Amino acid sequence: MKRILEERNISDYIKRVLAYAPQTLSEKQALQDFSTAYAQFGEQILLRSCEEGHVTCSGFVMNPELNKVLMAYHNIYDSYAWTGGHADGSNDFLWTAYREAKEETGIQHPVLPSGEILSVDTLPVKAHTKHGNPVKAHVHYNITYGIIAEEKETLQIKPDENSAVAWIPVTELETYCKEPHMLPIYQKLITRMQTLRIRQNQAIAQLRTPLLNWYSTHARVLPWRQDKNPYHVWISEIMLQQTRVEAVKSYYLRFLQRFPTIQDLASATQDEVNKYWEGLGYYNRAANLKKTAEKICADYQGQFPNSYDSIRLLPGIGAYTAGAIHSICFEQPTPAVDGNVTRVISRLTDCFCETDRRGYAEAVAIALQPLYNQGDCGLLTQSLMELGATVCLPNGTPLCEQCPASEFCFAKKNADENALPLRLPKRERKIQSLTVLILTCGDKIAVEKRTSKGLLQGLWQFPNLPKKLDPQVALDYLTQIGASPILLERTVERKHIFTHITWEMRGMYIQCNTLCDQFTWATLEEIHEKISLPTAFRQFLD
Ligand code: SF4
Repeated sequence: MKRILEERNISDYIKRVLAYAPQTLSEKQALQDFSTAYAQFGEQILLRSCEEGHVTCSGFVMNPELNKVLMAYHNIYDSYAWTGGHADGSNDFLWTAYREAKEETGIQHPVLPSGEILSVDTLPVKAHTKHGNPVKAHVHYNITYGIIAEEKETLQIKPDENSAVAWIPVTELETYCKEPHMLPIYQKLITRMQTLRIRQNQAIAQLRTPLLNWYSTHARVLPWRQDKNPYHVWISEIMLQQTRVEAVKSYYLRFLQRFPTIQDLASATQDEVNKYWEGLGYYNRAANLKKTAEKICADYQGQFPNSYDSIRLLPGIGAYTAGAIHSICFEQPTPAVDGNVTRVISRLTDCFCETDRRGYAEAVAIALQPLYNQGDCGLLTQSLMELGATVCLPNGTPLCEQCPASEFCFAKKNADENALPLRLPKRERKIQSLTVLILTCGDKIAVEKRTSKGLLQGLWQFPNLPKKLDPQVALDYLTQIGASPILLERTVERKHIFTHITWEMRGMYIQCNTLCDQFTWATLEEIHEKISLPTAFRQFLD
């Protein structure tokens, strides 16, 4: 996980601590201690060189069932204890707690269920020796955050600090924790973790009525919302993957005009389906559409299947699309969780977990199940998606003042709405260079079909060669294959970005004397009307 909230400055964090609402008398005192120390020493309290006392950040790590706590045996305390460490000047308390939990226990995939401070405590530290140096008695102004981790994660000790790491049942803390003053704090934190989960579930439950009311007046009129025909909903959902609503509208209408039924789609050629998909990208979607239409005609007499498992088994249909079709078209209680929905729920609950990590969408679906069990399944799916698409927008710009959840949204309350959702780091895109040959002979242009495997499989392309070549190398190659090049008109540099790869292309416009057999030769009109040329190549026609 990247550093959390790193754009915040120190005073944001100090402000958050000072705004913390103490829930016990000792927390009230702790907050007073923190405030007094901050008034006296300023940001020096973030450094351990502030000898009277300084800030530490702890992570209280529990399993998803909230019945075990992950603790390390700290040699310095001769006891099992929570994880945590000095702020050491860090401007990010949440990150410090998260990092320390990982370093002290070896866990790799902890989740911060909320950015909320779980507790603020003043912890006394006895005089001791560290690395041979005496450390005088002082206090830690400790800020705690809750963390969730899976028990199956591999544990590892941090040899210079601890000698064991273990999941300790909450009922056995007294046996393992030898610091009597810490036990009440751990008990308090266990209760708060449980309460936090209840409050988050309540926020999700609370969403149902205001969301449906909001949708009844704010739903956009979209072509695929005119009926609940599963064929229509399916086509729209596949088109909407990775593509904006506005861009999809005209494609959707044109596609259904040409393929009004599943049978029409099943009996079309893949080339024709690709042609109607041209410009939408991710062409394996078009291939899967045709495969699915064929399967429905062969196995279901042309009727879209109505059980979730049967829908899920159709080519190109994942959990989200199956859930959408099942809930919208058949009114079944199957949550459909896409990026819009995970964003809404991660903000609603203030969850600092990467929404694209494995298991998060499934967890959101489980959390939404009780809402679906009350009916209005299709409306729930559509309204959640609509909220994410039009109000709880990505990239730090949610329109909270227009949101039906604004009164009970955790992220809004904690001012975390711009920091969420978290995403896994993007894989770096590979760069591939190629030379694209736009060969003309009279009024014909050379095209060829790509192989049936890999990127843009089975689509058409302009002939191309690996690497950006010198024109003479390309001309020699064309002579060799019998294309008889007579004039290099111009070269251009173009780029096309796919999800995992960037093509950097040198386009060469070359007149030829021969319609050599290696290529298919088509007029410009034929290319426009019949040949599905992906955008990466189509740009050379501009
Ligand atoms: Fe999203 Fe803001 Fe609504 Fe919360 S209040 S769900 S952050 S739009």
